[in-house]
Amino acid sequence: MTTDFFDECTADITMPKGFRDTTYKNDACPSWGFNVFQIFIDHPDPNERELGPEKPRFCIMLEKDYGDTHTWSYECETWEEVLKTVSIRSCDPPSVSEEWHMDCPECGRDDKIFINGRVELLLTPDGTENTCSNFADWDDNSYAHCGHCFFEGTVKNFKIPADVEGCNGGIITFDKEEA
Ligand SMILES: [Zn+2]
Repeated sequence: MTTDFFDECTADITMPKGFRDTTYKNDACPSWGFNVFQIFIDHPDPNERELGPEKPRFCIMLEKDYGDTHTWSYECETWEEVLKTVSIRSCDPPSVSEEWHMDCPECGRDDKIFINGRVELLLTPDGTENTCSNFADWDDNSYAHCGHCFFEGTVKNFKIPADVEGCNGGIITFDKEEA
C-alpha cells in the first residue's frame, strides 16, 4: 500500500472542521474521524478500490469498534451522504428546533421557517444589494411563515414552549413565558 493511493482516495474531498485523520498505514484505505464515527474512504474510481468495484466508496462505522465487531456501520457512494449521515446521527450541527427552540405550530417542521427581518440594502444602479447577509434584525413580533404548510404568524407563534428530548441529554425544560 502506497501513500499515493491514500492521497488519491481523499484528493477530491475537503475535510470539514472537526474531522481528524485516523488513517492507519495497515488499513485498506484512509479514514477520518468525526465525533464517534470513523469514515473509511476508498478510491473514487471503483476499479481502483481495495475492496473491489462492487463496494461503495464510503463506509462509516463507530470509532470504538475499530478492530472489533462492528455494532453499527453504513455504506454509501457520495460524500454528501456521509456528511448527512454523521451529522444526523450526532446532532451536530443542531437543527433549527434545537438551536432556536422554534418549529411550525401547524406541521411541526423546522426546516422552512421564513422570518421577515429588516436588512440594510445598498442601492446600486442595477437594484439593491444585500451587503450584510449575516445580519438581519428580527424579534418575537416579526412576521414568519412556514414554507411547508404556509402557516403564518409571528416568530412568537413558532416558539416551542417546552424543549423536546434531545439526542444528548433527555433534559426537559419548560419555558412559561409563551402561554
Ligand atoms: Zn408548517
